[in-house]
Amino acid sequence: MNKIYNFSAGPSMIPKDVLVQYKKEFYNWKNLGASVIEVSHRSFEFMRVIEECEKNLRFLMNIPNNYHVLFFSGGARGQFSAIPMNLIKKNEFADYICSGYWSNAAFKEAKKYCFPKKINVIENHNNIVNVTPFSKWKLNKKSSYVHYCPNETLEGIEIREEPNFLDKIIIGDFSSTILSRCIDIKKYGLIYASAQKNISAAGITLVIIREDLITSEKKLVPSILDYNIAINHQSMFNTPVTLSWYLAGLVFKWLINKGGVKKIEQDNKVKANLLYKKIDDTNFYINNINKKYRSYMNVPFYLKNEKLNNIFIKEAQSFGLYALKGHKIVGGIRASIYNAMPIEGVKKLIKFMNYFEEKYR
Ligand SMILES: *Cc1c(COP(=O)(O)O)cnc(C)c1O
Repeated sequence: MNKIYNFSAGPSMIPKDVLVQYKKEFYNWKNLGASVIEVSHRSFEFMRVIEECEKNLRFLMNIPNNYHVLFFSGGARGQFSAIPMNLIKKNEFADYICSGYWSNAAFKEAKKYCFPKKINVIENHNNIVNVTPFSKWKLNKKSSYVHYCPNETLEGIEIREEPNFLDKIIIGDFSSTILSRCIDIKKYGLIYASAQKNISAAGITLVIIREDLITSEKKLVPSILDYNIAINHQSMFNTPVTLSWYLAGLVFKWLINKGGVKKIEQDNKVKANLLYKKIDDTNFYINNINKKYRSYMNVPFYLKNEKLNNIFIKEAQSFGLYALKGHKIVGGIRASIYNAMPIEGVKKLIKFMNYFEEKYR
C-alpha cells in the first residue's frame, strides 16, 4: 500500500487495523459465505453487531442507563431538523449558539420549525479569535433548549469546557469531536454526531438522548427521524446503513484496544500541540485562534504569503500528505487529525512544513 497520510475532514481516515479486518472478512463474514453488506439487518449475526456496538460505545463514553443510544440515517444535517421537530412545539423558542459554519447551519434549519434565537459567541480582539465564555451567553429564559457545536470543523474552534446550565437542556453537535476526549454525558440532554469523522464511514448518525426528553405526544415528524419510533424499533424502522454500522463496531473495538477515550485524548493532545507549536514557532504559518479554543481535531492555518497556500497543498500531496486544502469558505490549509491519524502523520506534516518554509521563505 502507498504510504500516504490522509488529512481529510470527512469522510476521513479509518484506522488501518479496521480496514485490514474489513478486507479480510469482506467476502465471507462470520463464515456465512456472504458479505456483511449482503445479510439481513435482522439476522442473528447482524443483531449481535448492533448489540455489541451499543455496549462498547456505552463503555467508551460512560453513558448512563437513563440515556438511549440511537442510530439514524441522514447525517448530522438530518438531526438539524429532527431536533426541533422532536423536542419542541411550533412557535416555541430555542437558543442557537453560533460559533462557526456548522452551528449557523443548524440555526438556519431550525428556523423552519421554531423560533431559534441566534447567539453569536465569536469575538475578535486584536486579530485573535475568541469565544465568549458560557457565563456570558445571553440565553432566552423561555427557550426549550440550547444548541451548540463544541467543535467547529471548518474554523477549527473547539469549546472543550463543558456547559453547566441549571434548568437548561443542552444539545451538542459532536460530529467532529466525539470520542476524541472524555465528556460527561450527564451535562447534556442530547448529543449527536455524523459518522464520517471519528466513528465510521459516512452513513449512520449517532444520537444519545436522555430518556425524559422522549414524549409520546403526537408530532408532525417524519417517521425515520422520530425519536420515539427509533427507540421502539431499535433504530431499525427503515433499513439502516449496515456497512457504516458494522464499521463503527470495529472502530469502537479498536478504540477499546487502544486504551479507550482517556488514552486517545492524551494522544490527540500531543498530536495537536506538536502541530500548533510548529505553526507558532514561525511567522511563516498563521493560526490566530486563542490557544484555549484551538481544536485538537481540525487544525487550520494559512501561509503569511497567501499566494503560497495552493503551492503548499500541491507539493504536500506529492510528499504523501493528502487532503490538506481548507474548506472553500475559509480557505487556507486544514489538517484534520482525528483519532485514526497516527502521530507519525503529524510528524511527517511538520517535516514538510519545515522543508517548505526553507524553500520559500
Ligand atoms: C461534518 C459535520 C456535519 C455534517 O454532517 P453530515 O453527515 O454531512 O450531515 C455537521 N456538523 C459538524 C460539526 C460536522 O463536522
